[in-house]
Amino acid sequence: MIAATDQRSALEEARRYLVGGVNSPVRAFRHIGGEPLLLHRAKGAEVEDVQGRRFLDFIAGWGAILLGHNPPAVVDALRRRADAGVLLGLTHPAEAELARLITEAVPSVEQVRFTVSGTEADLTAARLAMGITGRRAVLAFDGCYHGHAVLAPEVIRVPYNDPAALEAALQRHGQQLACVIVEPVAANMGVVPPEPGFLARVRDLTSRQGILLIFDEVVTGFRLGAGGAQGSLGVTPDLTVFGKIIGGGLPIGAVGGPRRLLQRLAPEGDVYHGGTFAGHPLSMAAGIAALRELAAHPPYESLERRSGRLADGLLRESRAHGVSLRVNRAGSMLTVFFADRPVRNEADAKASRRDRFAQWARALLAQGILVPPSPFEALFLTTAHTDEHVERLIRASGEAFQSWHE
Ligand SMILES: *Cc1c(COP(=O)(O)O)cnc(C)c1O
Repeated sequence: MIAATDQRSALEEARRYLVGGVNSPVRAFRHIGGEPLLLHRAKGAEVEDVQGRRFLDFIAGWGAILLGHNPPAVVDALRRRADAGVLLGLTHPAEAELARLITEAVPSVEQVRFTVSGTEADLTAARLAMGITGRRAVLAFDGCYHGHAVLAPEVIRVPYNDPAALEAALQRHGQQLACVIVEPVAANMGVVPPEPGFLARVRDLTSRQGILLIFDEVVTGFRLGAGGAQGSLGVTPDLTVFGKIIGGGLPIGAVGGPRRLLQRLAPEGDVYHGGTFAGHPLSMAAGIAALRELAAHPPYESLERRSGRLADGLLRESRAHGVSLRVNRAGSMLTVFFADRPVRNEADAKASRRDRFAQWARALLAQGILVPPSPFEALFLTTAHTDEHVERLIRASGEAFQSWHE
């Protein structure tokens, strides 16, 4: 048992020894104000803070948690793995097993290289593309997130969902571009789905100029279906980056693609990537347990239905109380934008009312509901979320909207 501690002293200690009191900036609650929570436990759809207060959790490990917190299959696999050795230092069979589960679910992937984070996998994919093409520039889209590191010596950016801007950039820079990297469904400017035909156009334009197309499916992989966004949208990239869900809650990242491309990584090829913790036994064990569970009991239809119900309910409450609100949703991830126009790129997201978002998030917190403390993140549903949980969020939102008019 972990004893409940005092929030104030825990926060003071965090601020004394950690930069900004956190290890990842969004956890500091700067977007919504108020004191950040310090958590110490989680189970199912709930997290508990250091004072023992419980919250219905829609952060879900920033999307890494799909089976709810601490599913028994994952916890058992971790216990068994820990008993048998936490770190082995050489290859062990679970690495190929997790890679096989990914290749079976995602047809464009024949081989996999595991990393410790999504950031590292994005970097590795970009370097691999540079090695394959002999070019040094990368094109990425405004508002898409591919980790906190610089992807390449030169990064060109264009707006998301804007094929004309992409075409113009490719005309100018096409010969220097190793790859175009994209979140096939964006989730880091809030959820912004691709407009019909956008990804097909990206695929077509990159193919014509010998530019590799990388899908960053760190969030969407195994969340929008076992085949990820590429499975549901029908556009096939050259390389795919995974993370989050494939680690079952443990640190992980992966680059996947056809053997002929992956073979350019060391030791087969000349693009170096290695890591002390790459293919970590605990991450493999948790990931295998999670992906097996998903294959045995595919949750995607019920997640879709429940998320649709959440989106409908939020829209209904907003209309009832005269609040301008947009819900952008893809499967079990959604973002509430306080905007009166559609949000289809980063500029639209930034033009939404962040003050309203902060008000909403704080009102929910007071009702024991935790949504991401930033207007540019997604709420995630897991298999532990019930219709009752969804109704709680809708009801609490309605109460918040009502109070705005009093
Ligand atoms: C989370 C995320 C990353 C980075 O993964 P980390 O494991 O946090 O380094 C990269 N790309 C996307 C789309 C993400 O959502």
